[in-house]
Amino acid sequence: HAASKPPPTPSPLRNSKFFQSNLRILVTGGAGFIGSHLVDKLMENEKNEVIVADNYFTGSKDNLKKWIGHPRFELIRHDVTEPLLVEVDQIYHLACPASPIFYKYNAVKTIKTNVIGTLNMLGLAKRVGARILLTSTSEVYGDPLVHPQEESYWGNVNPIGVRSCYDEGKRVAETLMFDYHRQHGIEIRIARIFNTYGPRMNIDDGRVVSNFIAQAIRGEPLTVQAPGTQTRSFCYVSDMVDGLIRLMEGENSGPINIGNPGEFTMTELAETVKELINPDVKIAMVENTPDDPRQRKPNITKAKELLGWEPKIKLRDGLPLMEEDFRTRLGVPPKK
Ligand code: NAD
Ligand code: UDP
Ligand code: UDP
Repeated sequence: HAASKPPPTPSPLRNSKFFQSNLRILVTGGAGFIGSHLVDKLMENEKNEVIVADNYFTGSKDNLKKWIGHPRFELIRHDVTEPLLVEVDQIYHLACPASPIFYKYNAVKTIKTNVIGTLNMLGLAKRVGARILLTSTSEVYGDPLVHPQEESYWGNVNPIGVRSCYDEGKRVAETLMFDYHRQHGIEIRIARIFNTYGPRMNIDDGRVVSNFIAQAIRGEPLTVQAPGTQTRSFCYVSDMVDGLIRLMEGENSGPINIGNPGEFTMTELAETVKELINPDVKIAMVENTPDDPRQRKPNITKAKELLGWEPKIKLRDGLPLMEEDFRTRLGVPPKK
């Protein structure tokens, strides 16, 4: 519950005529997969001005090319581990590599991004009186001992494992969010995102959906990591973006799970991709990586009740929506 301190005074710049009619929104990590879809949606509203800050570690300008040069859009090459001075009303703080291959590549940088990056964005939110939304993750539940995972579950996370830079990094980021809220009266929103898929996912970033789709299009075997009975729940990116915006606009701080409760084993996912994209490919069982959670499925009761949100797109309908984008980027012509 909010601290006794008065809420921060909005920056005087925000009293300018411009700010009275427009909402200025910062999206960190906006050149990435989810961020760029979020930007597309925010830009549809003519009252929004969007600033993206991204260091292009896993994102790319290409994801935002349709907005570059637009009068309501601005793109800044910026690393969130450095302070950022901008005048905004809302901050969607997504900056952080999401794929295990990339977040393990420079684990120290990942934890700096989560901790120092979130601290800086909270310092910014405090200075300008902005509302800030953090994209946390289902990984805060670790290898969960409770199934499905609800927000009150504290998780089962290895603090010293190879995934810890990400899981523990996000847990600290959540702590910082709540401490700034309690201590400084910052308006916070925390989304715990479950596996999300869709066009513009990094090809070859090692995530299961992008791997299987790329493999199916290339005609290579689909690599199911053993034992294949581990489960995930996959949310289509437009549903995710809708949930994030509802959370930002709503009254509840969270944390709130945003994900699709449809649960699939990795073997089932491979079979579905095979059926929908390329019935000729083989399915191969390969070695897994350490600390792989055995099951994951969101309880989305809170999102339903508090945000009136639930996903609309089923896995079987969402997977084919990625095919054209992947074919174009892989340079493989469409199926006859
Ligand atoms: P992504 O890797 O496509 O996007 C992350 C973006 O952040 C990229 O554009 C990257 O260049 C940028 N970035 C990374 N480090 C940065 C830094 N230090 N400074 C500035 N920019 C930086 O990943 P995504 O799938 O779009 O994920 C977005 C957010 O959602 C992340 O915070 C991630 O943890 C969270 N999330 C994603 C999923 C998922 O399934 N995709 C699941 C749970 C949580
Ligand atoms: N910060 C920032 N942009 C701002 C204001 C602050 O990046 O507009 C950074 C600042 O550099 C600091 C962090 O946010 O490292 C936390 O700021 P806060 O004011 O809460 O703490 P302090 O500066 O007192 O440590
Ligand atoms: N996985 C798989 N084949 C792949 C890549 C991943 O079977 O080519 C499995 C992996 O073992 C895990 C699940 O898919 O059980 C999800 O992995 P991903 O890296 O996509 O996401 P996360 O582990 O972060 O949920």
